[in-house]
Amino acid sequence: MVQDNFLGNYSSCVAARSTNRAILAGSQDGGIVTQLFAFALEEGIIDGAIVAGPGDEPWRPRPMVATSVAELYAARGTKYNISPNVSFIKEATRSYGLDRVGIVGTPCQMQAVRKGQLYPVGLRDVPDKIALAIGIFCMENFPYQSIVQLVEDHANTKLENVTKLDIGKGKFWVYTERGAVVQLPLKITHKYEQPGCHVCLDYVANLADISTGSVGTPDGWSTVFVRSKKGTDIWSKAMAAGCFETKPIEEVKPGIELVTKLATEKITKNRKTIEERSSFGVGKGLRNPYI
Ligand SMILES: Cc1cc2nc3c(=O)[nH]c(=O)nc-3n(C[C@H](O)[C@H](O)[C@H](O)COP(=O)(O)OP(=O)(O)OC[C@H]3O[C@@H](n4cnc5c(N)ncnc54)[C@H](O)[C@@H]3O)c2cc1C
Ligand code: SF4
Repeated sequence: MVQDNFLGNYSSCVAARSTNRAILAGSQDGGIVTQLFAFALEEGIIDGAIVAGPGDEPWRPRPMVATSVAELYAARGTKYNISPNVSFIKEATRSYGLDRVGIVGTPCQMQAVRKGQLYPVGLRDVPDKIALAIGIFCMENFPYQSIVQLVEDHANTKLENVTKLDIGKGKFWVYTERGAVVQLPLKITHKYEQPGCHVCLDYVANLADISTGSVGTPDGWSTVFVRSKKGTDIWSKAMAAGCFETKPIEEVKPGIELVTKLATEKITKNRKTIEERSSFGVGKGLRNPYI
């Protein structure tokens, strides 16, 4: 087991992509999340997965309990605003009656899942039902209105015309139906970020069973950290079933060095923000003004 201050604990790290072309076609990167859930569903490892399904407005996700591969497909791709997936855990176990739940989420959502398992206040009977928690790397997120504004003001289009949003290679990318690709420097997007993300100390979902993101690997591939015992077991079964093509992370560019660099930068910068905030009374928990 590798133990790293910034990347967390993991049993292995590889570059990977799904061997299923249909999954790859609509996924954000290497289709790791959709492929893993589809495999787990088919093998009975999970009965369903909480994913970020389509909502009423374009690119505004709504948590959804996917119990079929078709529903997993409908939820592929990254939505750069909040999908409160954790709030659906009870829905999945009570309304859908699932005993083995898969869930995908950002690092903060993985922390919430683990906290709910350790302190199951209001989640009685639920902790043992989390069968596969997949974390996605996350540098920052945006309120929905910020995404609307960002795309309208800087990419000169409406969100309904957008086919993909992505952050990579130091840019925010907007792909439209008509084939236009707009690249925005991240210095433009920073002011639209959620302020809460500026005190976040996890980049690569350290508490997930398996976590994944695009950084570190070439386009169409993903970096995958296999972390827990459960994650290691499911990953090796999926590999044996031929779900993924992999390469050692040391053999791809830009490689794990870039993941480490970005994780270190995020955590160091945000620790500083926490310190700054604590000097004016926020950020280190509530203080009783009468003591
Ligand atoms: C806000 C945000 C910031 C990110 N920042 C980075 C980054 O800095 N570096 C990096 O390498 N990767 C980042 N990612 C992860 C990356 O964009 C991909 O989601 C990840 O690589 C998985 O790709 P995939 O092809 O395996 O997933 P797919 O097979 O396309 O599946 C993606 C899964 O994630 C779910 N999902 C989509 N949006 C959300 C959401 N908002 N909340 C919860 N679940 C969601 C989908 O429903 C789907 O199940 C970020 C993702 C998000 C949501
Ligand atoms: S930056 Fe942190 S707090 Fe913000 S969405 Fe990502 S994981 Fe959550």
